[in-house]
Amino acid sequence: METNLTENNINELTQKICETCHQPILPTYYFCPNCGAKINSTPLATGLGTQLGIYLFSIILPLICFLFITRWPGLKYFRSKDPKAKLIGEVAWTLLILSTIIIIWLAYAYTQGLIKSVNDSLNAANLDMSNLSF
Ligand SMILES: [Zn+2]
Repeated sequence: METNLTENNINELTQKICETCHQPILPTYYFCPNCGAKINSTPLATGLGTQLGIYLFSIILPLICFLFITRWPGLKYFRSKDPKAKLIGEVAWTLLILSTIIIIWLAYAYTQGLIKSVNDSLNAANLDMSNLSF
């Protein structure tokens, strides 16, 4: 009974194994104490404030011409093994794609409007010209 408990405790404490040197490590470690390798599963923040920040960032990223794409955490979250973080990544991707489509559509609509108004003024000028010539 006592040995079982101890084994359980050890299993609980050594759930993770370093990907570099394959030594058991504590799940709370960010770096392997044996070889110093960075442990990939550094927990990603999944708080509501963080989520809103990521979503807002995803929406405005196309507006600022993807200038800060390297700071966009969507890919990191999307690749996460933590299902909650992964879900945030998926939502971030969806928002980014939707926002991009909307921005492109707005730019297209704006350009079309601009072309139409230029055409209208050209037509008006043509009418003026034909009025003048007769
Ligand atoms: Zn290691």
